[in-house]
Amino acid sequence: MQTVSILGSTGTIGINTLEVISHHPERFTVFALTANSQVEKLYQQCVKYQPRYAVMRNPDSATKLRELLSGYDIEVLDGESGLIDVASAVEVDAVMCAIVGAAGLGSSLAAAKAGKRVLLANKESLVMSGQVFMQAIRDSQASLLPIDSEHNAIFQCLPETHSSALVQGAHTLDELGIDKILLTGSGGPFREQPRESLTDITPEQAIAHPNWAMGPKISVDSATMMNKGLEYIEACWLFSADRHQIEVVLHPQSIIHSMVQYRDGSILAQLGQPDMKTPIAYGLGYPDRIAAGVEPLDFTQMQALTFEAADLEQFPALALAKQAMKTGGTAPAVLNAANEVAVEAFLNEQISFLAITDVIDSVMQTVEVSQAAELGEILDADEAARRVADMIIGNGL
Ligand code: NAD
Ligand code: MG
Repeated sequence: MQTVSILGSTGTIGINTLEVISHHPERFTVFALTANSQVEKLYQQCVKYQPRYAVMRNPDSATKLRELLSGYDIEVLDGESGLIDVASAVEVDAVMCAIVGAAGLGSSLAAAKAGKRVLLANKESLVMSGQVFMQAIRDSQASLLPIDSEHNAIFQCLPETHSSALVQGAHTLDELGIDKILLTGSGGPFREQPRESLTDITPEQAIAHPNWAMGPKISVDSATMMNKGLEYIEACWLFSADRHQIEVVLHPQSIIHSMVQYRDGSILAQLGQPDMKTPIAYGLGYPDRIAAGVEPLDFTQMQALTFEAADLEQFPALALAKQAMKTGGTAPAVLNAANEVAVEAFLNEQISFLAITDVIDSVMQTVEVSQAAELGEILDADEAARRVADMIIGNGL
């Protein structure tokens, strides 16, 4: 029996995780569920899954949830400290890190430091703090299982005896006979539209992803392709890859979820429905394969699988992310923070779709980068980037 905390249980990944868990009551018990401020949703999840703890990041929401749950044997915690407590509690075996954005860093890192089985969906925390995060995993001998579908696919295509060791940083790709990782991306909803025509894109249009159902932030990231940029950085850290060993390939059907190219000319790919329950089930069950409640692919009904190169002019966000990784130090944290502020401003209709990458570009040119990248410096860089991004947006970019 595995005891699991689900951080961000009311989001898309959190809901899918609970759905997979509900197929396997003999295998998993839910220790904690958490949300930012969605009281009603978390309340319903608590009634259904009966966790030991519920955490609301927002203290007022926690007070409301406490009232609603007064008849239940569920303790309600609040704030960042509540999240850290349930991510690192001794009773917990696995932590699903599915909070969106930099807000997930503290609790993801706490799970890593506590030596848990870390199921990492919250890519932003790794982008911000790659070195620190991977070091924490190694120091505590935690296991790190990527939930992001591409990274999960890559993990599945590694030599099995090495997959966990690789994440622990014990082997380079070169030592495993791997030349390259082919990171696939759909190209989002605007892949075929000329960049100039995207000026009046509304949040609603940007969120409507052709293949995946996801939270609003990552949906906008997919439309700008910053999501692929963040994933490129994520892959460098997870697989100890050299920047040049990761190649982004567009694959609009999202059937192949990424590939690993070996020295002998073999390329291994992982295929499946574009449904996050598959990588979630893989992470929860590893090394066993457990049912995810996902229909298998029917090759006789499938349309053609197509591939194309990613156009860095059409998708400047990808170029900005590559630049941030090349610069190193706190640059990826600056990129990530600027992106979060710009996406939020776009969703609130304060800036246009195309301005998202302009804001990030300006912030990256303004905020000074530190090469040391200790946690304190990362948090300072995050804060500085948010301040500058707010200023640029306030000045009417
Ligand atoms: P979502 O917006 O649907 O859910 C976010 C969750 O985080 C919610 O439970 C919310 O209450 C919580 N949250 C938000 N702000 C918070 C804060 N300040 N403090 C504490 N909790 C907070 O997001 P999602 O689509 O489920 O994505 C979650 C993470 O998983 C993101 O990092 C995303 O990049 C990653 N991811 C998602 C998908 C997907 O298909 N949705 C795929 C790959 C990776
Ligand atoms: Mg992904």
